Order: sequence, then structure tokens, then C-alpha cells
Amino acid sequence: MTKLNIKTRSIDKIATAHQTREGNFEVNRPLPSPGINNINPFLMLDNFGPTAIKPGEQGGVGEHPHRGFETVTYLLSGEIEHKDSSGGQAIIKAGQVQWMTAGSGLVHSELHSPEFTQKGGVIHGLQLWVNLPKKDKMTTPHYKILGQDDIISFQKDEITVRIIAGELDDHKSTTKTHTPVNYFHLTLPAGTQTELKIPHTHNSFAYIISGRGEFGEDSQKAKSTQLVLFKNDGETVQIKNTETENLEVILLSGEPIHEPIASYGPFVMNSFDEIYEAINDYQMGRMGSL
Ligand code: MN
Repeated sequence: MTKLNIKTRSIDKIATAHQTREGNFEVNRPLPSPGINNINPFLMLDNFGPTAIKPGEQGGVGEHPHRGFETVTYLLSGEIEHKDSSGGQAIIKAGQVQWMTAGSGLVHSELHSPEFTQKGGVIHGLQLWVNLPKKDKMTTPHYKILGQDDIISFQKDEITVRIIAGELDDHKSTTKTHTPVNYFHLTLPAGTQTELKIPHTHNSFAYIISGRGEFGEDSQKAKSTQLVLFKNDGETVQIKNTETENLEVILLSGEPIHEPIASYGPFVMNSFDEIYEAINDYQMGRMGSL
């Protein structure tokens, strides 16, 4: 047996999220960032909240379309009601993920649920946009809610790992992805560290939900609302928490899709002809309405 010389990845860039608004959501957006248009196949990441909502205060994003990619909404606190033009309706609860394949196109709304609006509370979550390969861009729209039974949770090096998609060590998620993607949520208590194996061909980044950590081969420091982009120079990623608070991080990795990207707002296709077609189809009502 030959012992492989496993190298851990170094850091390419650390980007700080910029603040923006989506509907009534206050959003920290680390992706895209200056100098990082996308991290193929990941197109966008929004971190909404944590924001305190008063009882009776409406919130969320009203009716809008999507085509050509997937939106993955991971709710950490609060409740969101999804409604779409194909008749779909679902409540996303704290700890759950909605994996929505927009495919050929739909119109949906992402509003705080009526019950949450009535009671008020803290809304907090993440929405990741994952590109679809050309062959799947016009697939029939669908979505799945991933609950406690679908998200694999286990301890590794004293840290809690939740696998939303993909695989780590002997743990394999049943979440269906169109191209190989790993989506992990890691909780590192004070004074812990870990090294996770990911395929060397994947692009990979971490985003810090809360706390501070040290990342990569040369232990670069990053904190809450920062994105850490790893170089593709190793088979593992290293994360350390040398602070006294918990470190909450999501770690994404994915096989890049080697196809052109043409994007305009909520449409992500391969050419601008397809973008014009998407705008036209939406305006003509071909993506439906609520
Ligand atoms: Mn949306």
C-alpha cells in the first residue's frame, strides 16, 4: 500500500458579506462579492437575519419567478411559507431545508408564515443558489422539504456535523442533487478543530454564521458574515475554533459545471437568447401566477 500524501487546502480569498434587502428581509450577501462572481456551481448565498420581528409585522419576499437553477433555503429560526404557481404550498420550520428546483420556471412567494407573523420572533436563515447543468435547466419544477429525518447529524472530533447534501466519511445523505454537491452545517464548540475530506475536484467555501474561526493550511482568521474561499490545492479543509464561543459554519463543496453562465436577476441560463426567452415566458404568464 502506498500512503497518499494528503494535503489540506489553503485560502484563496476571504470576503465580507455586503448588506442588502430582499423583500422585507435584511440580507447579508457574501456571494457574489467583489472578485468572486460565483463559486461554480454555487451562484449566490444570502444570510437573512437574525432579525427580531414584532407580532403582526409582515415579512418575506412576495411573488417572483425563477428559472434554470435551484434555491436551497435553510431556516435556522422562524417560519416561512412557500407558495408557488404549480399549486405547491409548504411551511419551512426552523432546522428544515427547502431544496427547490426551479427548472423550467415557476413563480413563488417566500413570506413569514401566518402563525409566525401573528406571534413574532426571530427570523434567521440562509438561501443558497445552486446552478443546474444545461441538460436539467428546463426540468419540471419541484421542491422537497428536508426535515430532521433527512438531515444526518453526528459528532466528529467533538463537533456536530449536519449533512444537508452529499457525504462525509461513512455518512451519506439521500438528498438528490443534479451535480455532486456537499452541504454541511458544523457547530464547533470552543477549543475544537476538525479536518474534513472533500473531493479534490470540488470548489469549496465556508461561511461563518456566528463566532470566529481559523481556516485552511495557514490558519487564517475569519468571523461572522465572512466567506472563506478555499483554493483547489488539497483533499481536506481544516477549521479551528480557538475562541470561547461556539463557531457555527456552513461548508459547501461542489463539482464545477463547465458550461457558460448567462444570468439576469432570477433567471440563470447558458446564453442571453435563453435569458430573453425566460423574460418573455415570464411576462406572457407561461411560468404561471399565484
Ligand atoms: Mn425565490
